[in-house]
Amino acid sequence: MAEGVIYKAISGFYYVQCAEGTTECRARGRFRIDKNSPFVGDRVEFSVTEPGRGYLKTIFPRKNLFVRPPVANIDKMIIITSAAIPITDPFLIDRMTAIAHKKNCELIICINKFDLDPAKKLYEIYSSCGYKTIRTSAETGEGLETLKESIKGSVCAFTGNSGVGKSSILNELDSSFSIAVGDISKKLGRGRHTTRHVELYRLNCGALVADTPGFSSFDTDNLNNADEIEALFPDFEPYIESCRFHDCAHIKEPDCALIEAVKSGEVQKTRYDSYVRLYEEASKYKAWE
Ligand code: GDP
Ligand code: ZN
Repeated sequence: MAEGVIYKAISGFYYVQCAEGTTECRARGRFRIDKNSPFVGDRVEFSVTEPGRGYLKTIFPRKNLFVRPPVANIDKMIIITSAAIPITDPFLIDRMTAIAHKKNCELIICINKFDLDPAKKLYEIYSSCGYKTIRTSAETGEGLETLKESIKGSVCAFTGNSGVGKSSILNELDSSFSIAVGDISKKLGRGRHTTRHVELYRLNCGALVADTPGFSSFDTDNLNNADEIEALFPDFEPYIESCRFHDCAHIKEPDCALIEAVKSGEVQKTRYDSYVRLYEEASKYKAWE
């Protein structure tokens, strides 16, 4: 019996990586019966039937699971942003931070294209929220060592709006990444980000990186409970217990401590605006149910 991580899944075959190499595994029928299908990112126990081949036996309990894109056990979410062609809308960042908190992922905010724009505002917003915020440039290499240090040994997903430099950064972190991902893009054409296929790639710093799509296709149905949204903004935590009403939604209630904190500049206005938008979207979701 051996243990490893599923790094690729294709039509019923699961490719498991462990210290000894990779093994192509089948899942036994039991997984289908239990409605517990294996996902890329799953830590599994498997038995080897012949060199390089085997059967999955057990899926170990997951830290988290994303359905879109289908991947399990993401330790760290790296949100790539930019203040220069394109400019990242803070709302997109805040929606991703909320999803990451909901899924118990650690967060790194990466402000790329530092060579083009120092992005003072974005840096101030996210570092003041307590997020690990790194300024990078795929062009000059600035900040990439810090990023590498922060992700080594963990399973990561890189997200960000198109054009911010996700591929450029990954290529700079490990030049063999481009070759691997380039191949897949070619095979699947432009469909890479619309297919349900995810693969984990090992960077030479030891991080496993999920080749995930941009912001748009991440599970947004995770944010369908309006009352839960405030808890997904850790920077609000010092204030929300002090509102006059115990069930304050922080939208237009009187004596709302969060609204006061926004007014006094203790809470970032853009974070609050994103909260209101997510709250309203989630409330609509409830109405449809
Ligand atoms: P992706 O869509 O997020 O994967 O973005 P790409 O990695 O394809 O980058 C989009 C464009 O921005 C490319 O032309 C890159 O060369 C350029 N780019 C990426 N990062 C940087 C950077 O830090 N500085 C500058 N000046 N250009 C960058
Ligand atoms: Zn309030």
